[in-house]
Amino acid sequence: MLYSKTHSQIIYLKKTNIKNISSHLTLKKIKFALKIKLMTTENEHVQCLIIGSGPAGYTAAIYAARADLKPLMITGMEMGGQLTKTTDVENFPGYPNGVMGPDMMEDFRKQAERFGTDIRFGYVSSVDFSGAVHKVVVDENKTITADTVIISTGASAKWLGLPSEEKYNGFGVSACAVCDGFFFKNQNVAIVGAGDTAAEEATYLAKLCKKVYMIVRRDEFRASKAMVHRVLNTHNIEVLYNTETKEILGDGKVVTAVKVINNQTKQEQDLDVTGFFVAIGHNPNTAIFKDWLKMDETGYLITKPDSTATDIEGVFVCGDAQDKLWRQAVTAAGTGCMAALEAERYLAAKEFA
Ligand SMILES: Cc1cc2nc3c(=O)[nH]c(=O)nc-3n(C[C@H](O)[C@H](O)[C@H](O)COP(=O)(O)OP(=O)(O)OC[C@H]3O[C@@H](n4cnc5c(N)ncnc54)[C@H](O)[C@@H]3O)c2cc1C
Repeated sequence: MLYSKTHSQIIYLKKTNIKNISSHLTLKKIKFALKIKLMTTENEHVQCLIIGSGPAGYTAAIYAARADLKPLMITGMEMGGQLTKTTDVENFPGYPNGVMGPDMMEDFRKQAERFGTDIRFGYVSSVDFSGAVHKVVVDENKTITADTVIISTGASAKWLGLPSEEKYNGFGVSACAVCDGFFFKNQNVAIVGAGDTAAEEATYLAKLCKKVYMIVRRDEFRASKAMVHRVLNTHNIEVLYNTETKEILGDGKVVTAVKVINNQTKQEQDLDVTGFFVAIGHNPNTAIFKDWLKMDETGYLITKPDSTATDIEGVFVCGDAQDKLWRQAVTAAGTGCMAALEAERYLAAKEFA
């Protein structure tokens, strides 16, 4: 199907989570969406196809375009990736005064385009990696064949699903303590989760914040003994067992408290916090690759050691789709660079084989 501008705009608005961004940022996203090219129905062949337009995909595009691989990028429905859902980014090198997430991703896009990346709005609905040339189906109706494919489809944080969580997302609610903990220095915060990541993020927050409430649904942690030991021995973390989040309270702009309930006693209390961190896991966006590529039990794609290469020749993966440990923009960008360089080497070796 050939998208009209209006159609693609509607799809874009429907599929992206724009409600939690201020109207200023929302407008920027719409403008951003309308600047890009739309998919046509003609099939085509490219040397390098990049799936996803987050920090990993754009960095791969910059390197691949500069190496004259003439990359084609399929943006996905969340053009710019996870950082378009946040406000301030203060830890990406090169922005001494910090930058708004959507603005930073626009800079990435401009840089990728400057070297000739062909950026198209669409989503990859299926792939076929059975042959020497890889087949990628876009929007369920257009097949692109590629000598190399760089997968940078990222991951999505899991949320509790409360309307108030969505309302204050980016304004006190966050799914990344390392990214946003700094904004709550010397303040009280709460974190929900009971696994290793939640435990690690709670101890990270405890170093910055006055007090950390850790909200644990059951009467025990899922985290390793060592991590639990660290949590329980951190003086400013208070663990609330058998506790669930009922609502995030705010003044209409930012978070001011969190209402929790003890699921045994049914007793409710308001925690006096300005930050609310959700650490209940991530879903890598890798379902379409499950018949072709190795992944772990949670869906993270597996690469060869010290490499972005998968078991299928010419298919590389970078960013959060393969990284369940660091999940930062700069690490995603780093592996994006690796993927493009490895794709270039692969093509060069094939040419002289
Ligand atoms: C609220 C929040 C705040 C954050 N703040 C910071 C911060 O301050 N600093 C920091 O370093 N990190 C931060 N992070 C983490 C950072 O955003 C991620 O580590 C980074 O974006 C990962 O980059 P990526 O390119 O791997 O994937 P993503 O940014 O997740 O991008 C994935 C891309 O793949 C596309 N895609 C998915 N499926 C398909 C498909 N089927 N077809 C085509 N395209 C597809 C999506 O549309 C998207 O464009 C934050 C994350 C969140 C959620």
